Amino acid sequence: MTRYIFITGGVVSSLGKGIASAALGALLQARGFKVRLRKLDPYLNVDPGTMSPYQHGEVYVTDDGAETDLDLGHYERFTGVSSQQSDNVTTGRIYSDVIAKERRGDYLGATIQVIPHVTEAIKKFVINDLTDEEFVLCEIGGTVGDIEGLPFLEAIRQLGNDLGRANCMYLHLTLLPYIPTAGELKTKPTQHSVKELLSVGIQPDLLLCRAERDLPEGEREKIALFCNVQQSSVIPALDVSSIYQVPISYHNQGLDDEVCRFFNVDPQQPDLARWYDIMERVTRPEGEVSIAVVGKYTGLLDAYKSLSEALAHGGIANNVRVNLNWIDSEIFENEDTFQHLQGVHGILVPGGFGERGVEGKIAAASFAREHRVPFFGICLGMQMAVVEAARNLAGIRGAGSTEFGQCQNPIVGLLTEWERDGLVEMRSTESNMGGTMRLGAYEALVQKNSRIHKIYGTDRISERHRHRYEVNLAYEQDLASKGMVFSAKSPNGILPEVVEIPDHPWFFGVQFHPELKSRPFEPHPLFTAFVGAAVDQSRLV
Ligand code: GLN
Repeated sequence: MTRYIFITGGVVSSLGKGIASAALGALLQARGFKVRLRKLDPYLNVDPGTMSPYQHGEVYVTDDGAETDLDLGHYERFTGVSSQQSDNVTTGRIYSDVIAKERRGDYLGATIQVIPHVTEAIKKFVINDLTDEEFVLCEIGGTVGDIEGLPFLEAIRQLGNDLGRANCMYLHLTLLPYIPTAGELKTKPTQHSVKELLSVGIQPDLLLCRAERDLPEGEREKIALFCNVQQSSVIPALDVSSIYQVPISYHNQGLDDEVCRFFNVDPQQPDLARWYDIMERVTRPEGEVSIAVVGKYTGLLDAYKSLSEALAHGGIANNVRVNLNWIDSEIFENEDTFQHLQGVHGILVPGGFGERGVEGKIAAASFAREHRVPFFGICLGMQMAVVEAARNLAGIRGAGSTEFGQCQNPIVGLLTEWERDGLVEMRSTESNMGGTMRLGAYEALVQKNSRIHKIYGTDRISERHRHRYEVNLAYEQDLASKGMVFSAKSPNGILPEVVEIPDHPWFFGVQFHPELKSRPFEPHPLFTAFVGAAVDQSRLV
């Protein structure tokens, strides 16, 4: 039987609903339950794929090629369960589906309304595409009180009746602000937020209260009384120094016990050994390395969420703390700025779009190559590392990418044709921008005897992609003769997936996004190897 936990947020945004949902998912999983996490996003874009990272943070890509909210990354990292297209929906997608059905004539005769048609579509999404999951945790984006969130709240309210109230829990995440002059945690915003939920017919069953210090018993009692919940269902969610401490912290506050009590399920104790192990490694590393991340969206670290987590996982694997220096690549477009890279133990150029800052990324790759500093280029970072090698190693004049306009030697060009599941996908400059990149998991064949083969230890890999341009293999020989080799390609041999410089301490570029598949208890081999190379480098400098 599937039980549903609906997670809403109140008082302010950025409370960490995604982490809270992911941590609860991990706790239920540690009790042996099969879990699935889903997210309903109230904005009008069909998906976040066309949004600027400054608006939305990272776009998380699933194996099946969906461009989704970054919270799905937290879900995967905490539970190890791979997300799918059917785990994230937006108002935009719901409406475009409802309107398409209306045009087809599926509702002939009816007036199409938010209730029941839009809410029906939302409900269908929540309960669709499940097999034997015991718990579905469904997070509602935004903050209670937002106009655009109303249809989602109405839909989950209805689900409480449809599925049976005993099978649906409403969990509300709130904030208890601490007022230093009063020396108190304040409960009023939580009371108001619960009132707001009640006004749309939802009585929360459990309140998870973010707070910077412990909640006195008296305040807990007060919240329970005013918000009409059991006192044991008011759970403090105290600030912790690493997100990987959250599951254990919530467990110690009784969250998973309370959830099991609500659903009347066997309260066997969870096996949290792996979380204790990760917590130990995160809080007590044996050394540290510093890595420069040279990108364009360094003003908003949410834009690189999976990347910074994957680097932390590489640290977990090597028992070191990874300190990240976020550097805006544009600064390398002026002379004499390389002191920023002096002394770092590794340089990473992440993915990105558009021309701003690319010459700086090329300059950073050049610095890493010449100074023999470990270098990791991801997607655009890989493309720019190849352009750099083409210009400065192979002496190819006018080497560039057509993403930024015409150039004499298009080392990187538009990806016009590729295979997916035996079918050919075609694109041109006229294609729509939304959802048309080469997206999701694709296999690649790894060359035997290459260094990448040693890292993966296998001939065939599957990694997630999100790109519109590709490195042109016409330049392969020129580059290989100068020491840069293409060591993994798509199975049909047409698309380069990995480049490496064998005669360098550690220099790799990958067309895919390995950061999307890294997990704290299963660090991605490329991040383990990159941080390992940085550890070696730290012994030299
Ligand atoms: N802009 C490049 C492309 O579309 C790289 C994309 C990326 O880094 N995700 O191919």
